[in-house]
Amino acid sequence: MQTNQTGTPVVLLYHRIGRPKLASLVAGQYVAPWLFRSGLDYLTAKGWCGARLAGIAARLCDGDKFAVTFDDGYLSVYEHAFPAMVERNMTGTVYVVSGAIGGINEWDRRAGDTREPMMTAAQAREMADAGFEIGSHTVNHPHLTLIPDDQLEQEIVDSKRALEDIIGKEVISFSYPYGDLDERVTQAVIAAGYKYAVVTKLGVPASGGAFEIPRVNVRWNAIGPLLMRKIRRAKRASGIRN
Ligand SMILES: [Zn+2]
Repeated sequence: MQTNQTGTPVVLLYHRIGRPKLASLVAGQYVAPWLFRSGLDYLTAKGWCGARLAGIAARLCDGDKFAVTFDDGYLSVYEHAFPAMVERNMTGTVYVVSGAIGGINEWDRRAGDTREPMMTAAQAREMADAGFEIGSHTVNHPHLTLIPDDQLEQEIVDSKRALEDIIGKEVISFSYPYGDLDERVTQAVIAAGYKYAVVTKLGVPASGGAFEIPRVNVRWNAIGPLLMRKIRRAKRASGIRN
């Protein structure tokens, strides 16, 4: 059993920042801008410090560390989360669906969800220039375990190249759409040259390897103590007791 002597890193997962759209199939994934800001301030007030996912293992403060990640690359992340984090001198990681840049969430729409605008290439570049990490979330957001090898490679390799062209930096981090992965998918991600990958499974990075980094999915109601309770649950899920 591991202990929590030097601070346990936690990777938070957000999707959409904004007032919940009740018609959405994932209404709980909208975090109001003020709640997003209060979540950052709450953890900071508790002695936690924000870190980049790439540097989560570095000992930046004596307390616990948290990294903020966003899946999909919604415009609302650029509009609300980006300025809030810059204001607090924090950076995060955005996993962008490269084929949806400047468009809408076609994959959600096909499943009957509400329409959401995605950030543009210029906005992704601006975030990268400000120190945010841009990671890949494939080209089209498919279930990777269900597609043939050639398509799998396209989704993983083409998105990396497209994003690198946009931001002018290497893209080394990957997020599996729907948290859908198996051995074949992970091997393809490693072969494409990524250095680590995040999943949607609840937990903290202490468990799993570099290509299965668990996260804490932050939903609309994860306010203060509720957020802390979920983080504690993630630690327990990874075998950490405190
Ligand atoms: Zn996604």
